Amino acid sequence: MLDEVGFAAYAREQIRATDVILAKHLDQTTVCSCGRTLPCSQAQSLVRRRLHFVDQLARLDAPSTVGRASVVTM
Ligand SMILES: [Zn+2]
Repeated sequence: MLDEVGFAAYAREQIRATDVILAKHLDQTTVCSCGRTLPCSQAQSLVRRRLHFVDQLARLDAPSTVGRASVVTM
């Protein structure tokens, strides 16, 4: 089991990784950047995953969390 510091690092890494993947789904004008029709189910699940980790980070007593980073809304 991870302690809080370990989990915070893990959560930040997950958010960073999710952002990299999400960048391939961001241009959603007529179809998603990945080629899927809208709404893109993969982008939606990524946003949920990202929010989950942001929320977990916000619960930790870590002053330098990335929880305040802008949250992508779809
Ligand atoms: Zn997509």
